[in-house]
Amino acid sequence: MSFYDELARWPHETLDALIASSTADDVLRALAATRPGPADLAALLSPAAMPYLEDMAQRAHELTVRHFGRTIQLFTPLYLANHCTNQCRYCGFNARNHIRRDQLDAERIMAEGRAIASTGLRQLLLLTGDAPRISTVSYIAEAAHRLRPLFPSIGVEVYAMQVEEYAELVAGGVESLTMFQETYNPGLYAWLHPAGPKRDFRFRLDAPERGCLGGMRSVGLGALLGLDDWRRDAFYTAMHGAWLQRYYPATEVSFSVPRMRPHTGSFEPQHPVSDRELVQILTAYRIFMPTAGITVSSREAAAFRDNLIPLGVTRMSAGVSTAVGGHAAGGDGNVASTEGAAAAIAASTAISSGDATGDLSGRSTKVDMTSGMAHAVTEDLQQGADAGPSQFDISDDRSVEEMVSAITARGYQPVFKDWEPPQDNVYACGAAGHADGTVRCEAR
Ligand code: SF4
Repeated sequence: MSFYDELARWPHETLDALIASSTADDVLRALAATRPGPADLAALLSPAAMPYLEDMAQRAHELTVRHFGRTIQLFTPLYLANHCTNQCRYCGFNARNHIRRDQLDAERIMAEGRAIASTGLRQLLLLTGDAPRISTVSYIAEAAHRLRPLFPSIGVEVYAMQVEEYAELVAGGVESLTMFQETYNPGLYAWLHPAGPKRDFRFRLDAPERGCLGGMRSVGLGALLGLDDWRRDAFYTAMHGAWLQRYYPATEVSFSVPRMRPHTGSFEPQHPVSDRELVQILTAYRIFMPTAGITVSSREAAAFRDNLIPLGVTRMSAGVSTAVGGHAAGGDGNVASTEGAAAAIAASTAISSGDATGDLSGRSTKVDMTSGMAHAVTEDLQQGADAGPSQFDISDDRSVEEMVSAITARGYQPVFKDWEPPQDNVYACGAAGHADGTVRCEAR
């Protein structure tokens, strides 16, 4: 099996025509659908949906509260290394960029882990560049194994692996995998990845499925928004998620919505995504897959992230550093890159009060923030140039404490841990779960 075959059924000419022909009636039908299909998804992502963003926000909010309650999980990334053999044109870790390369040893891994754990966080995302001979599978599994006593939930965002390699990570204590396809356009993908193992479009496309087969409890997908026409990439991402959920129902599927950020290099996205368009994507994902997790990272500005909370987000990063060793070094959020950066955020029409006006559709409606609904209308933010070895600049550098306050202020509950590996469980009867997933009652 492979999502590749499903993708082949949706050549971009067919998809573009479907999106362009979507009407207001199609959007309204999609909003009312109990099980939206591909045509509904296309309608929700189409220009015809733009006047209905407010309705999409209301529907997304209702579905999210029904399936997740008013909760936001918090996590933070830990960069183990920035060595990379690829030449992705849009990334600061690109092998051709002259940045300081680094990899954490066991002592520094634990220093990072302790610094993060001291903030209260219990969910961790381990990242490396794509350098399998340096950041080997065993190295990543060993890092997870060491960090497990501090973090019940550990995910990875690393290079594409084989099934047995994912299984090795799972045995080390990893439970979730995030794999960004970047773009589902094979021609553009080839241009964006001129050299290195990541150039293999199909191997990467099938990686989430291999993660499911390797035993990952949760698999996250995403396109790097801004690389190609965002409507196409958002459609293919959502279809990929639905395909995985159909064939691997035991695996939890989630989406991320990363937009291109400034980085070390000169690449400029050809299809920038506005805030309103990002809201359209996020709410379309939620309506299409009501039970999927949705992550919004610190790439987005603080005020905008806060306003997204009621619209379908289930997971947010906090206390972020995208530099190797950044947390133990003081963790100001962007460590090596903020120093020397030009002026940071230039402008934002952040909505923070209960009486903001202007809604997602552009109609001038008074907004009732007390009901928990936010209407995220902000100006795009401008960010200064990167000056150091972080993968990209972040916009929201708030600490964990500040994120907790922001989430609580919206009437939501920040969640530090919602899962525990079975081997650590001790049940009321005295039974303990074991690594093989069985539960043996010790009391008998
Ligand atoms: S996106 Fe990943 S694989 Fe590509 S250059 Fe950056 S770190 Fe390397």
